[in-house]
Amino acid sequence: MKKSVRKAVIAGNWKMNKTPAETTALINEMKPLVADADCDVVLCVPYIDIAAAVEAAKGSNIKIGAENCHWEKSGAYTGEISADMLVAAGVDYVITGHSERRTYFGDTDVTVNKRTVAAVEAGLTAIVCVGEYLEQRDQGVTNELVAMQTKIALQGIPADKLNQIIIAYEPVWAIGTGRTATADQAQEVCAVIRNTLAEIYCPKCAEAVTIQYGGSMNAGNADELLSRVDVDGGLIGGASLKAADFSVIVKAASK
Ligand code: PEP
Repeated sequence: MKKSVRKAVIAGNWKMNKTPAETTALINEMKPLVADADCDVVLCVPYIDIAAAVEAAKGSNIKIGAENCHWEKSGAYTGEISADMLVAAGVDYVITGHSERRTYFGDTDVTVNKRTVAAVEAGLTAIVCVGEYLEQRDQGVTNELVAMQTKIALQGIPADKLNQIIIAYEPVWAIGTGRTATADQAQEVCAVIRNTLAEIYCPKCAEAVTIQYGGSMNAGNADELLSRVDVDGGLIGGASLKAADFSVIVKAASK
């Protein structure tokens, strides 16, 4: 990562895990372990846990995120949550386009774009997930695919709002599988994303955007992955549910 021009960000994605009481306990355990972090620390939690997470994180360096948002401000969308509601609840970040939303809940490049625009307009920082299935990697289309996902996700986001965008490169075959991309694979695709941002916006704008790697990042491999110049942090699933493991990753990003 290149700390002179951009922020390192380690974000946990708790997925569908933890009750409000468990949220309070885990954040209380994490707070002292990440207190001296020299990177931004974010925990994206289930909607039901947001109030407990915001309360537990008060006065600490941990920021709270959500795992999704709807693109409309309000209306007849049973079961959905708007970006404005997240802001009102004390949330600073939101994940858009996670592969589990794309795979199991019908999210498309177009809806990911709508969610991202709504998040940014509400004042949130969007962690926009892109990444290929294993078949697509085997077909040799990873770079074009990720570039296209990035371009569509950012339609309508002006250059002066890029500071509210983080791109997370998450190869789908590496998520929750224990099979991590090599540092070279992560670097190659993160660099493709940065070149795509340079093409859409400008080279200097692209240099300032935080690009994370996500996919079985853990306490054992974080150092190596984060050593690459275009890998500016991580989106962490499983390892973000364990305070000790998560704090080792935060320490790796703080070097
Ligand atoms: C994720 O959920 O974004 C993720 C990267 O999960 P894991 O770290 O468990 O692979």
